[in-house]
Amino acid sequence: MLESVRDLSDASSVTDRDAVGQAMYDLVSELFPICRSITGDGVRQTLAILQRYIPLAISEVPTGTQVFDWTIPQEWNIRDAYIKNSRGDRIVDFRHSNLHVVNYSEPIHTTMSLDDLKPHLFSNSDQPALIPYRTSYYKRAWGFCLPHEQLLALADDQYEVCIDSTLADGNLTYAECFIPGSSEEEILFSCHVCHPSLCNDNLSGISVAAFLAREVASESRRYSYRFLFIPGTIGAITWLARNQALTSRVKHGLVLTCVGDVGGFHYKQSRRGNASIDRTMAHVLRHGAMAHEIRSFSPYGYDERQFCSPGFDLPVGCLMRSVWGEFPQYHTSADDLTFVRPQALAESLRTCVEVINVLEHDRMYRNLTPFCEPALGRRGLYAPAEGHGIGNKNLARLWVLNLSDGAHSLLDIAERSGMRFGDIHEAANDLALNGLLEEASH
Ligand SMILES: [Zn+2]
Repeated sequence: MLESVRDLSDASSVTDRDAVGQAMYDLVSELFPICRSITGDGVRQTLAILQRYIPLAISEVPTGTQVFDWTIPQEWNIRDAYIKNSRGDRIVDFRHSNLHVVNYSEPIHTTMSLDDLKPHLFSNSDQPALIPYRTSYYKRAWGFCLPHEQLLALADDQYEVCIDSTLADGNLTYAECFIPGSSEEEILFSCHVCHPSLCNDNLSGISVAAFLAREVASESRRYSYRFLFIPGTIGAITWLARNQALTSRVKHGLVLTCVGDVGGFHYKQSRRGNASIDRTMAHVLRHGAMAHEIRSFSPYGYDERQFCSPGFDLPVGCLMRSVWGEFPQYHTSADDLTFVRPQALAESLRTCVEVINVLEHDRMYRNLTPFCEPALGRRGLYAPAEGHGIGNKNLARLWVLNLSDGAHSLLDIAERSGMRFGDIHEAANDLALNGLLEEASH
């Protein structure tokens, strides 16, 4: 599997950021028109496109399957939907935007008055020009979403309403990309694939995860990596129910969502709050160029809710740029291809790569000459100072020597010293090569 991912990773080098950002955006653009939901062919089409980028193991879980306290629902598929006025004009048209249909609407085809239709029409008066996104997964219903200004302008008329959908026994579909490393211990990345034409909330996470998987596969790694492409909530619950025994291997994890807009980064900590992933994310963001904010865990949001449920309590946080519910485009037709940007996608990918680099190289060492400082100059490990300071390289080596007592990892040392992990890691490599450090077994 590793080799086949490598074969596909021709354009995935993060060194060419503009090209990568554009390729990530092109994937978002290709996925945008598809009408996804928590089940159905929209998810399958999405995964089929992703398979051109990364190898996926696709699972189909039948309707009625019990997954913890939940049951896999009937599968929903839709071909067309519209509201026609008495002249036969499609005044609301699924072909124009799939957000026009309440996701999971049961089929209907009838003619009715405006008064009878109105309880099935949904709009948002605060954003009168936008189509809101609405779902009804677990309560049978049908409805249309439309701009509030259009709703207000509807004439008293007889309307033909049609939702050409099916709700029938079928499957819930999800996919995994597993990239084995030298250890069975895993880093988990998860994104949701259940939203229709919404870019930042949904497609940005899919694109970052897919390109990150290619990047991960481009060299051998210590950790194994698992990327989940799953419907929100029910998909995460399904995966966890079917892989409960495997979850003990998950040492670090991130849910990726809303990572394509130009806002600063927001990281929501895991339930533990002090897991390696929480400290790593904080370190990478602190030393990055972008504005950022760390938020503590709350039991609401994306699938970190399931990964961090008390029975699992996995070290899984959530990386976002703008936070769901706090940007005006959220769950509206304005979360479109103009709201996400190639450069923002590339920056999100780079941030994830930096996180991986820290996790891969964070180890514990022991100073083999702990009684006073070793003579670094004699070994060519003390660069002549420029100006007043002792220089970054020298300082990093002194920090590593001082704190490598078998109880501090390189990330601990980076945090304590305020220096970049990369500088601390390089210092440890230099000292180990010169016989001054050895890796401490833990
Ligand atoms: Zn959403």
